[in-house]
Amino acid sequence: MRVGWWRVYLAAMMLAIAGYVVAPLGPWTALSWSIVNALGPAAAIAAAATRLPRTDRAAWYLLALGILANGTAVVPNTIVSEVLRSDAYPTIADAFYLLFYPAVLTSIGLMIRRWPPRLIRPAMLDAATITSGIGVLAWVYAIDPALRDGSYSAFGQLVRVAYPVGDLLLIFLALILVRGNSGAGPRSARWGTTPPWLATGLLSFLGGDLAWLLVGEHSVPGWVSRAIDVLYFAAFAVLGYATRHAAATDEQRLAATPRPPGIPLMSMLLLALLMAPAVILLQMSHNGFRHGGAIAAGSTIMSVLVVTRLTVLLRFVERQSDQVRELARRDELTGLPNRRAWADELPRALEHARQSGRPVSVCMVDLDHFKAFNDTRGHQAGDRLLKEAAAAWTGQLRESDVLARYGGEEFIILLPGSDVDAACAVVERLRPVTPAAQTFSCGVATWNTTEASDELIARADAALYEAKGAGRNRTMAASTRQRPAGIPSASGGAALHRIDNIA
Ligand code: GH3
Ligand code: MG
Ligand code: MG
Repeated sequence: MRVGWWRVYLAAMMLAIAGYVVAPLGPWTALSWSIVNALGPAAAIAAAATRLPRTDRAAWYLLALGILANGTAVVPNTIVSEVLRSDAYPTIADAFYLLFYPAVLTSIGLMIRRWPPRLIRPAMLDAATITSGIGVLAWVYAIDPALRDGSYSAFGQLVRVAYPVGDLLLIFLALILVRGNSGAGPRSARWGTTPPWLATGLLSFLGGDLAWLLVGEHSVPGWVSRAIDVLYFAAFAVLGYATRHAAATDEQRLAATPRPPGIPLMSMLLLALLMAPAVILLQMSHNGFRHGGAIAAGSTIMSVLVVTRLTVLLRFVERQSDQVRELARRDELTGLPNRRAWADELPRALEHARQSGRPVSVCMVDLDHFKAFNDTRGHQAGDRLLKEAAAAWTGQLRESDVLARYGGEEFIILLPGSDVDAACAVVERLRPVTPAAQTFSCGVATWNTTEASDELIARADAALYEAKGAGRNRTMAASTRQRPAGIPSASGGAALHRIDNIA
């Protein structure tokens, strides 16, 4: 349906609800308006579903069926009470009312079955915990009393219990819908997807059931029961409206990462955990403590779920911080360690050299005239060359050597166990494998066993500078003497080695 049709639908449903509220009291008028309020959403869903991919339709047809059955249960109900004048329980109407639960549960189950596990798993744990907390309440105040009520047949008791049990399952699903959707885009954009509408619809329906639970066996004035019915009709209307966004792609959800639980969720989990002690206190202050078994079972289930949830969360946080650390230490373009990662390696290598008495060298590599390469062949070709050079050079180095991208077109190599001659030989091996016949200049410095790591780097840098000055495409070894600060070049750093590349 087009957007315009959805406006018409919403307006029509509001009128239908208003019609039900203001219609003259009486079972048969109420019945007619109820049918309108169930038929409208069911028809809207069925119409919108025909536009969906075949595989997605079943879920929506089931939702329509649930609404239709629950909304029209008033027909057999009115016939039983008004025509047959029977007050038997249960009646055929209960089958209509109850069909809502399996239909909607299966429907939403089908919709969320393709959500990625990383979203659905934490959502299910959260939903199960909160539902268990409410389950303790439901057991103590609805399910157990219904099972003890001798005025109903065993079958009647079972039917009565089916309602709160169905409601608990709806709560579970609504919570999964809300939690599982929380990672998918900003809050406002989420209303462009089905889950929040479905969850809102379910909550409205649950509101109706809760109201009836509170009313209990008391007879209420007609307007109260109408007010409660409005909650059901609003639920149907909103569930129908959810179909509007059924075609929204799930791509965003596939890419979404679960959002870590915030204060509202944590408060809800805490509240769920506190249900058990709250019920105990309440019972102790009234007619004495019963339901010990149920409360213990609920507490145990919730404790296990919360600890599992925290374990899942910790793993998630751990994995994320590993990823962040890894990203922070790696150069995106070449995949090589970046300057920071390399700088962490150097002191370790120096310490190792100190203990073992073996040499360690540092080579500073800078591509020649790379700006010109970019200018003539384009920046992308330049990027490709950097990437390919990094890969080719890595292939020429030992596992213990560390090649890193130091900056733009500068690389640095740590060669543990290599003296200056060995290091220069390694560098010469890199020249022929450099792609696109690209040349580079290199400064090599071998640790003099006393200098600090930045002094060692400074000497390699100075040697590189000399290699550039001497005409590029060559390797220069740094003097073992430290150059006085401020004097940049040849004066202090007389080269011990000079290896011109004769390619
Ligand atoms: P020299 O021989 O003196 O080193 O000359 P050069 O042109 O290589 O040196 P200069 O420092 O003037 O320019 C370095 C160039 O490297 C500038 C920039 O266009 C290029 N460059 C730096 N980082 C990247 C990068 O990530 N990708 C590409 N494609 N080019 C880069
Ligand atoms: Mg440079
Ligand atoms: Mg350069």
